[in-house]
Amino acid sequence: MKCYNHHDRDAFAICQYCGKGLCLECLDTRNDSILCKNSKTCAIKSDLVNQAYNQLSNNKNIFLAIGILFVIFGIIGLIMSLPLIANIPGVVGITFVIIGIIYIKNAYSMKNKV
Ligand SMILES: [Zn+2]
Ligand SMILES: [Zn+2]
Repeated sequence: MKCYNHHDRDAFAICQYCGKGLCLECLDTRNDSILCKNSKTCAIKSDLVNQAYNQLSNNKNIFLAIGILFVIFGIIGLIMSLPLIANIPGVVGITFVIIGIIYIKNAYSMKNKV
């Protein structure tokens, strides 16, 4: 593959946003990605991807926090209802713990995807 701008030069890398071949002089790095140096479109795309990535990692932390909260409330509910057998707070406690675990699992599967 040749550089998109310099047809006599071999491409050193490929723009992640438009797929053009780039020589060392034409490539730029932004938000840990490789893109065309003089392309506004590619720069905007790179920023959008970066924003989406940041949003996803925020969601991950929110999911994790919700999960941990549910587990804590569930365990408190369980402890408080231990002297009573087969009571409603106990069932609610178990449900809370399960919901919490699902949230935490989701948060971790998000982490693996990124
Ligand atoms: Zn590009
Ligand atoms: Zn070039």
